[in-house]
This record gives sequence, structure tokens and C-alpha cells, in this order.
Amino acid sequence: MRSLIPFSILAASAFSSAFVLPSDPAVFSASSEAGVQRLIQISPTETRWATEEQKLELKRQGVNFMDITDHQMLGMQNAVTRSEMGIMKTVEFPEKVMFEDTIKPLLKNLNKDNMKANLEKFTSFYTRYYKSEHGRESSEWLLKRINETADGFADLKLAPFPHHWQQSSIIARIPGKTEKTVVIGAHQDSINLFLPSLLGAPGADDDGSGTVTILEAFRVLVEHLKKTGEKLEQTVEFHWYSAEEGGLLGSQAVFSSYEKQARDVVAMLQQDMTGFVEKTLKAGKPESVGVITDYVDPGLTEFIKKVITEYCDIPYTLTECGYACSDHASASKAGYPSAFVIESKFEDSDDHIHTTEDKIEFLSFDHMLQHAKLTLSLAYELGASNKWSGKGGDEL
Ligand SMILES: [Zn+2]
Repeated sequence: MRSLIPFSILAASAFSSAFVLPSDPAVFSASSEAGVQRLIQISPTETRWATEEQKLELKRQGVNFMDITDHQMLGMQNAVTRSEMGIMKTVEFPEKVMFEDTIKPLLKNLNKDNMKANLEKFTSFYTRYYKSEHGRESSEWLLKRINETADGFADLKLAPFPHHWQQSSIIARIPGKTEKTVVIGAHQDSINLFLPSLLGAPGADDDGSGTVTILEAFRVLVEHLKKTGEKLEQTVEFHWYSAEEGGLLGSQAVFSSYEKQARDVVAMLQQDMTGFVEKTLKAGKPESVGVITDYVDPGLTEFIKKVITEYCDIPYTLTECGYACSDHASASKAGYPSAFVIESKFEDSDDHIHTTEDKIEFLSFDHMLQHAKLTLSLAYELGASNKWSGKGGDEL
């Protein structure tokens, strides 16, 4: 996630020194990383070159971007396919929730203590910076923990998704009757924006909270499928992305690979920061789930609102976070419907992030539990729906 400094300040700082627009980035790539130019996208229509230091400065100023250097064609293939077929890409989501009888008893199995224990371990890594050995170690621990959590579930396909930096993304795939895929995402990396290679970054809220939230929903879903032998209609995947803080690098690599394989992703929900409510409560506002309304798929977002209303004990509040504010932007750019949910209104979200102070002590596990309820409910509702099985649903 980003911090809360307006874009206008950026103009006076990050790009005030002469900004180089190289005609051939390879010239720059030959030098040490400090001088390497990366291509970044800061709005749907605006790209620039920036060094790693300039990227950090942008983040310190609260400006989000995608570092598109490695995946400049993301979304092109799907766009061409759609235009050749003469269709606008729309996925129709269910009109209403359908599976209360199955889901409501399962929600009782979600357990705050598991999230707490997982987050205590996850934040004990000095940093989870994606270009560090600590980041590699935290990812290896997470992979092991997911495997233990699945507890021998035979259908599960669990694998790291390696990158050209130390920390891998992780994908846990629960095959359904069809290849249509529902993706539940969070990012596993953390960053200290002052000196990422040197200073600690516990990343409790950003995005340790999302990581353990979706892991707990995954645990209960898998337990249910194991116990009942049920096979879902859709394939459901849980993704833990690396390098969100580098400009959505891990998620772009994953969705670029999915696009090349012509994978049919019907929905993607990202959760980045699910545990901080202090500012909301201090302002006298009701504790709520923050549903992001900008740069998201409206149909999926509408369905998520219905899921929160039905299955969570707190209401939702509508809010915005700007372009490329988390990994759902990579799915969206690839042409897949995506949505984003956060702990509160964006302006009331945790401002300890990206520092040594992003600690568990500021977080509410009761609030995280509400996000776990949303996650499990959405995964089951869309996973079990026959909306896309030819019985009345529109194709992607
Ligand atoms: Zn984040």
C-alpha cells in the first residue's frame, strides 16, 4: 500500500532534478543497480523512466506505480483476443449470495489465534524485502506454513512462483470442475522505505495482515473440502505475491504468465492491510470494511458488498486508493476482473507502514477476522457458483 502524501508534493521533489528519458534503457542497465532505469507507469496513460532510488522517493511521497519494465505487454494478448472475437470483456457475477447454509457454519471455524500466531512468526523476520535473504527466508517459511495448513489435502497444488530476485511468490491451487479461476490475493513482502536493504520492516499490517487473513480462510476452506469430499465448480487459487512494494512486480509476473497460458480468471480479490482500526474508532466512525471503488471491476465490487452484508458482522464503507495501489492492478491490467478491500476508509488506514513501527501491537485481530469471513465467503460463493457453467452464465 501507499502512504498518504498528496501527488502534488511529488512534482516538487521526485522529478525536480533533471529527469532522464533514455531512448535505450539497455545503456543504463549495464551499470550498477543505482543507475539502472526502470520503466514505471503512474496512471493508465502515463509512463516514465526512474531509478531504484527515484522509485523509493515516489513511494515516500505516496505515489503508486507499476514497474512495468519486465512486463510491458501485460494485457495486450487478452485485449487482442477480445477484439478479434468482437466482444467486450464482461464477467457477470451472481445476483445474490447463494450458499448461506454451507458458509455460515464454516465462519465459526475461523480462528483469531491462528492469525495471531502466524503473524507473530511472519513479523519476526527482520524484513521481508523482496531483494534480500530475509525476504527469501520469510517466503520459504510461508510456503512451509501453507503446506502444514493444508494438512495433507491431496487435491492441492502448492508451488513457489520464482522470480529473478530472491523472494518467490506462492500459489496454492484448489482445482475445481472447470478451469475458470477465482483468485484470492495478498502480498508477502514488506519494505522500509528509508533504507530497504539495511533497516527492519516488520510489515505487520502491510501486508502481513492480508497474508494471514487469507491463510486462515484457506485453512477453513480446505478443511471443509477434505471433510466433505466436495469439489468446487471453479478452481480457487490463493496467491501470496512477492515484490508488491517494488511496483507490483510479483503479481505482474504471475498474471503475465496466466495471460500467456490463456488462463481464464473470472475474479481476483486483493487484500492489503486488514488489521488497523484505531484511527477509524478515534474519529468516532463505525468499524467497517473498506471497499475500494476506483480502478476495480464494478460487478465484482457489487457482489463483494453483498457478501460483506450477508456474512460480516460489520458494514462496509466505500473509499478510493488511486491507480496501482496494490496487486489487483496487475490482474486488472491483464484483463481480469479484480477488486480490492482494505481495513477502513483509505484516509483512516495505518500510517505506521513502511517503517520499523508497522507492528502487531497496533492491530485488531477481531477486525482481521471480519476480513477472513469476507474472504472465505467470497471464495466459496464464487467457487461453488454454477453461474459460469453454461447454465445461464455469460462467458468471459
Ligand atoms: Zn501493501
